[in-house]
Amino acid sequence: FNTERFGQHILKNPQIAQTIVDKASLRPTDKVLEVGPGTGNLTVRILEKAKHVTAIEMDPRMAAELTKRVQGKPEQRKLEIMIGDFVKATLPYFDVCISNTPYQISSPLIFRLLSHRPLFRTAILMFQREFALRLVARPSTELWSRLSANVQLYAKVDLVMHVGKNNFRPPPKVESSVIRLVPRDPPPPVEFSEFDGLGRIIFGRRNKTVHANFMAKGVMEMLESNWKTWASTNNVMVEDDFDIKKKVESVLEKTGFGEQRVAKMDIDDLLKSAQIAHEMSQQVQ
Ligand code: SAM
Repeated sequence: FNTERFGQHILKNPQIAQTIVDKASLRPTDKVLEVGPGTGNLTVRILEKAKHVTAIEMDPRMAAELTKRVQGKPEQRKLEIMIGDFVKATLPYFDVCISNTPYQISSPLIFRLLSHRPLFRTAILMFQREFALRLVARPSTELWSRLSANVQLYAKVDLVMHVGKNNFRPPPKVESSVIRLVPRDPPPPVEFSEFDGLGRIIFGRRNKTVHANFMAKGVMEMLESNWKTWASTNNVMVEDDFDIKKKVESVLEKTGFGEQRVAKMDIDDLLKSAQIAHEMSQQVQ
């Protein structure tokens, strides 16, 4: 195990560790999932407040240290340590997730949490600052991006605090920030792959109009080829006069967002566009 590769930067500032746990507003009945507990600086504080903690740690040496830290204490029976990679692990039921993990797993971490069912109540997560700021970005600001939209589609996200690199040992190269994520319950009625597919196209060049992004070189070919693949696997005849461009134009017209600049579209605009695109594709089928 290599410190850089596994992001083993231990939080050494007790005040920050306590604030992270406090911001989770834990209840005595809560089951908590902690990802990457390391030596347990957050874990011991979570154990004080929660009913049960499942901690997933990839490095057996870290897991051993954490085991030693609670050994013989009353908290020991409240803690289950799973040794393994969070990305591949089968997740238990949890009410709250708390994590200060390496930044390499930021995206998988957040999307695994968002697709987990049943929905959890809240997550308090530490990320590299740039990533955290994109998660909380609002429309019409510079950092509003496909990532912001995909995450905010499923959750309310806000910034809890910035954490400077000197609060870790050894200090990482980058600054960090903590965010709070609260899933929208119920989740919006949209297929993630369709919403994300739309995002891939329209956030391509975020300062252009939606129309311009759809008409961009490559996008139309891709849509046409997707359509043809779909048609052949579903035994649907592609009409001779089939024109993908016309079809896209009609969807854009229906949404009314064709001339909108992507950077200004909010979640509701994007959701509405995805829903209309979905309905149109159903009609053709
Ligand atoms: N949470 C502790 C703290 O705040 O002091 C440790 C933080 S350290 C940045 C990240 C921890 O995550 C390390 O213990 C590392 O071994 C562990 N880790 C790295 N990749 C992991 C993965 N894919 N699944 C589970 N744990 C992982």
